Amino acid sequence: MIDLNSLFDKRPLIIAGPCSAETEEQTIETARQLAANGIKVFRAGIWKPRTRPGNFEGIGTVGLPWMQRVKEETGMVTSTEVANTHHVEEAVNAGIDIIWIGARTSANPFAMQEIADCLKGVEIPVLVKNPVNPDVDLWLGAVERLQDAGIKQIGLIHRGFSSYEKILYRNAPLWQIPIEMKRRRPDLHLICDPSHIAGKREYLFEIAQKALDLNVDGLMIESHINPDKAWSDAKQQLTPAALQEMLGNLIIRDIMPQGISPKLLDELRAKIDVIDDLLIDLLKKRMSISEGIGRYKKENKMAVLQPARWDSLLNKYMMMAGENSLSRELITKIFQAIHQESINIQDKIINPKK
Ligand code: PEP
Ligand code: MN
Repeated sequence: MIDLNSLFDKRPLIIAGPCSAETEEQTIETARQLAANGIKVFRAGIWKPRTRPGNFEGIGTVGLPWMQRVKEETGMVTSTEVANTHHVEEAVNAGIDIIWIGARTSANPFAMQEIADCLKGVEIPVLVKNPVNPDVDLWLGAVERLQDAGIKQIGLIHRGFSSYEKILYRNAPLWQIPIEMKRRRPDLHLICDPSHIAGKREYLFEIAQKALDLNVDGLMIESHINPDKAWSDAKQQLTPAALQEMLGNLIIRDIMPQGISPKLLDELRAKIDVIDDLLIDLLKKRMSISEGIGRYKKENKMAVLQPARWDSLLNKYMMMAGENSLSRELITKIFQAIHQESINIQDKIINPKK
């Protein structure tokens, strides 16, 4: 059995390979080129969860011997996704070294429990992708079901979260979720999958760099010998050569910066950026609620400014400032600005022509 921990001795661990195993030639040739560049862990989807039917749903069982060939001919460690008990049995019997649980499966406690039950007594490392929805407890639950079934070697993969709103990336990174997961489970290695966050190869570098700045332990990146012709996820895959170049440009920071160093500073700044993103998101949400309040006040012929409410809020914020060791001046300024903007928004709704 592969020792998952030892794979992380050289950080970051890189897992690479095509979204899907398509043909024997494509699988073996991709692995050969990756292995020649020093990549030690190979990924390839054998069974593919597709959003809508009619797309390539994975080559299936016939692809498993190709993975065995990859192992024999390149010495790479092999990994694939499992989504049901049939996949688990086939992958384990075929000698796959590491299995991973996809984002649609980790979101489903029934499926997770079945997989966990099927893994009882099997010694294989399992990587658990975050569920498609941003729910730390659901992610934790998937991990715990596997642990309760006796699985000892577990790792985490952050692959972003689906969102209804149109965003730059395919899946919203919501960095605060993997950070919170790492805080709750510091014992588990965390791998980032920039491919499924990005959706397009042009965004891979910035996402991978950000993940490294947040000190992830590894990266899982999709790589294909002929990305444009890939049968799934064509836009986000890279040739092994392009992957190598990208990895060479990444700045890899130490796990434990000694004393005060620019590296530590960069890490702190990356954390600040995450929090600022959150603040912007919260402000956006708050302002859209103000619009609703504006409409309500209009319908009910209420005045925009309700002095008693504003006064009690300000008092509450002052108390909270004290309790949280934040300066009252800062909190007053911030909330005065937010409140003013909220009034402006409501005013525009009530008096649209102004
Ligand atoms: C994949 O890794 O190819 C995949 C389907 O991932 P996810 O479950 O993150 O969508
Ligand atoms: Mn994919």
